[in-house]
Order: sequence, then C-alpha cells, then structure tokens
Amino acid sequence: MRDSTLDLIVVGAGFAGVYAVHKFRRLGFSVQAFEAGDDVGGTWYWNRYPGCRCDIESIYYSYQFDDDLQQEWEWSERYASQPEILSYIRHVADRFDLRRHIQFNTRVTAARFQEASADAPSHWTVTTDDGQTHRARFCVMASGVLSTPSLPDIPGRDSFAGDSYHTGQWPHQGVDFRGLKVAVIGTGSSGIQSIPLIAEQAEHVTVFQRTPNYAVPAGNRPLDPHELREVKSRYGEIRAASKRGFTALPFKPAGRSALAVSDAEREEVYERWWRNYGLAFQGAFADLLFSEDANRTASDFVRGKIRELVDDEEVAGLLTPDFPLGCRRMCVDTDYYPTYNRDNVTLVDIRREPIDGIVPEGVRVGETVHAVDAIVFATGYDAITGALLAVDLRGRDGLSLEEKWAEGPRAYLGLATQGFPNLFMVNGPGSPSVLINMVTGIEQHVDWIADCLVHIRDRGLDAIEAKAGEEHDWAAHNDEVAQQSIRGNCASWYTGANIPGKPGGFMPYVGGFPAYAEHCERVVEKGYRGFDLT
Ligand code: NAP
Repeated sequence: MRDSTLDLIVVGAGFAGVYAVHKFRRLGFSVQAFEAGDDVGGTWYWNRYPGCRCDIESIYYSYQFDDDLQQEWEWSERYASQPEILSYIRHVADRFDLRRHIQFNTRVTAARFQEASADAPSHWTVTTDDGQTHRARFCVMASGVLSTPSLPDIPGRDSFAGDSYHTGQWPHQGVDFRGLKVAVIGTGSSGIQSIPLIAEQAEHVTVFQRTPNYAVPAGNRPLDPHELREVKSRYGEIRAASKRGFTALPFKPAGRSALAVSDAEREEVYERWWRNYGLAFQGAFADLLFSEDANRTASDFVRGKIRELVDDEEVAGLLTPDFPLGCRRMCVDTDYYPTYNRDNVTLVDIRREPIDGIVPEGVRVGETVHAVDAIVFATGYDAITGALLAVDLRGRDGLSLEEKWAEGPRAYLGLATQGFPNLFMVNGPGSPSVLINMVTGIEQHVDWIADCLVHIRDRGLDAIEAKAGEEHDWAAHNDEVAQQSIRGNCASWYTGANIPGKPGGFMPYVGGFPAYAEHCERVVEKGYRGFDLT
C-alpha cells in the first residue's frame, strides 16, 4: 500500500497546476495532477467568450521560471487574447512534458486527511469523479480563484426556450449570434469585454445591468517585434523590477497625491493614463486607493469620460458608477461605452426594477418580457474559496473546510489552514492573488511550497500544519490592511458579497506583493514560524 502513495496530488492544471507539476517533478517528487477539463489552461480553457483577453500585459502575464521559455515565446498583442494564452500554456505543458502527469476529464470531489499510523505516514486520500481513490503525502489545491461560475438562481431560469451560456463555461465551438436577439445579464469584466463583440454580430442585444462598473480603455494593439525583442533583452531586469512592484508589475509607484497637484496637471495625468495604461489607471496617483478625496478626482474623471462617450444622457447616467473607482475590480475595455450608441443595443436598469424571472420567451422585468433567442450569463464567480469548497475537503478528525470557514475563510499566508496538515493552497484567501499579476503570485507560491517540501523531505519529517494563533494574526493583519484601502469598504466579489449567504470579509491580501513575499521569506528564515512541523 505504501508503494502506491504518491508524494503529491495537485488539483487543477491551470497556470498554477502546470507550474506545480513541473516544479515538483524537477525536485524528484512523484506527482499526479487531476484536471476537470480535457486540456490544460484552467480559466483560459473555460473562458472562451467573445472578446476574452487578459487585462495584464502579455509580456508580464507569463511564466519567468525558465529563461529559454520566455525568450522563445512570441506574444502577438499587448494584451493576449484567450486563444493565445491557451496556446501558451499548452506549449508549456508540451515543452516540459507535463501531460503524462495530468489526468484530464477528471474532477476531484473529495479529499480526506489520514493521520500517520504505525504502517504509513500522514497522507491524503483523494477521490475523483470516476470513482477512484488516490493517496498522496501532500495535496496542493491549484484549483483557481475565478473558476467556479456563479449562475444566479433566477426563477424560471430553466424554462427558457432558447440557448443560454455562462461566460465561464463557453462552448468550445463558439456561438454564432448572427440574426439573434441576445440578453446579456451582468456588466463586470466578462460582460464588458463580450458585449461590444456580441453587439457587432447579433441582431439585437439587451444588457441587464444591476451595478455599473468603471471601465478604462485597454489600448490593445499588436506588439511591435522590436519592442518584444527589447523586452526580451532585458527580461531578467524587468522580472526583478516586477517583484519590487506593489502588484508584481514593473511600474514605479506614483509618488504624488492626487490632491497635491493643480487641476490642470491632474487632468493631464488622468488623460495620459486613461489613454495608455489600462488597469494601472488606478495607480496614476499614490493615494487613489487610500483617500476618498483623492479617489473622487479619478472617479469623476472617468464619469466625465462616460458622459463624453455615450450619446444618450440617460443611458450615460445609468452606466455611471456611484462608488469609488477601484473599490470593486476595475474593468478594461475595448469600445464598451460607445457600444451603447448602437441602434441594436438596449440597456435595462435592473437595480431600479429587478429581473422577476426568466420565461420561455426571454427575461421578465416587471410587466415587460424582453423577448430574446439567447441569454448570456456574465454573472461572475464564487471567487477565491468557491473551488476549494467545491471539494469535500476534510482535515484532522474529519473537520470539513466548510465548517472550518463557516464564519469566513482563514488561511495562514493564504497557503495553508490549521486543521488541514499537508494541504497547500495556491492563491488561497489571505494571499495577494487577484490583486497582483497572478502568474508571478503563482510562481512565488509554488516555489515556497516546493522549498517547504524539500525541507520536510531532507529532515525526514511527517507533516506541516499552520498554527491557529498565527493564522488568526494573519487574518487580523489582512483585515487591518484592507480597512486602510478604499477596497475594504465596498461589497464586491473580493468580499464574497456576490454570492448569497457567503460569509463576508476581504479575501485577498491588500498589502502588495513585496510585503507579502517578504512575510513568506521571514517565516522560512525563522524555521517555518507559525507552522507545526512534526
Ligand atoms: P463579476 O465582476 O462578478 O460580474 C458579474 C456581473 O453579473 C455583475 O455585473 C453582477 O451585478 C451581475 N450579476 C450577478 N448576479 C446577478 C443577478 N442575480 N442578477 C443580475 N445581475 C447579476 O464577474 P466577471 O465579469 O466574470 O468578472 C469576474 C472577475 O474575473 C473580474 O473582476 C476579473 O478579475 C476577472 N476577469 C478578468 C478578465 C480580464 O482579464 N480582462 C475578464 C473577465 C474576468 P452586481 O455587480 O450588481 O452584483
């Protein structure tokens, strides 16, 4: 029995799982990954909706663990589209011969911790949806942070006579909307990216908006080969600078307050950042995410842009957010606002009058039935904890993760949680995850876990488990830092507010990548402070 116990099981084969398999294999561990899809890619495998592309520039949103890899891959656009990112991650899997360690079309349904006995060390028994069980000393949850789609429980949803789609589970063969009347429910990043393209194709698009979001132009363009060559010649330097950057991107922090400059200068800065820097717009001044007064200047600038870009004053008003910019995840768009100037696009404000139900003909709001042929749910995800809780994870004494997190998720450094020895999370709650360049965050997490595993192997140890005290202190620190930021005061998917009944609390770590990575390093230097090693 002992012989069939693997060193590691990795759950998921997106950016995190693929790198984890590579890294752990290289260190000589036996590894088996399970992936629900029939290929690698995770988020970038499932999200195939029109317009899907990354909001972090492609030269940064890529692995840095292998210089030959980053030298040989040619990104074609400033912001890579979903097909290009998927090709990239498939290339990585092939290049490093990782597929033989990944079982596709297999979903992990449960995992249970087993204490060490006279015959066997501590281990996890992992069950998959093909009815098989597998044993491994360690389990690494690389199951993604935006990978559990949320489909709202709208009355009559299943009665709809046409086809319906969730942006996060888009058909692989694509969807032809020509000649169709389409409803899009949701105006977060997925809605904002897809609506302009669906509107170009469909006969009519009706957008159902509950909360308007801020969108800034992506400024996407083909990547000039000279520019790419120049980046590659300095990749080491760029990656090092990125690790010093708050969001794991190589941008120097803006030193000034938005309130310390003249109105004219502020306007000039916003105009320049609006035109050139996409998501980084919220960093145009040092205090936009920390001071309400400073933030108002940026929020007002974007509100002014919406009024300029949308012809109909009432529609522009409906599209204008009333909360501080950056408080909820900002969106990056291509032609989103001007799409509402098209004759074939209608905006329905469902904050004033909510959707009552879905009927066979379409979407009913009050007495009006908006008749459509297809419905697109751009309704988001059960973020950060959704994929972890979708697996019946049971730690010491059968404690379930759901019970443990009943009052809100708690994980030490977002890497591990007390009561669940030898279980690691990549980008778990309490790590910077979605607030930084995710690929860099993933590499830092996997490297940390790998070093920890080597430490355990070299010393002949059995188990590692987060201590309750340090886990509590880390969560308190996370809350405290979140409260200092504008983000801490907004209901959003960062706080779980988009999922009915989900316990609240700001999930990602707001303190920035360098501070976070330093915390992780210090923990190791102090002999894995905050962990019990047995
Ligand atoms: P999202 O930001 O959570 O947006 C979901 C939308 O659906 C919101 O407008 C929400 O309204 C609406 N909605 C949810 N339930 C509803 C209901 N019952 N009735 C009516 N409307 C409802 O989800 P997302 O757009 O998929 O984006 C999630 C995150 O994924 C992004 O913030 C981003 O981090 C990432 N993402 C990134 C990219 C990119 O790289 N460019 C693209 C897509 C996604 P309320 O706001 O009122 O709840």
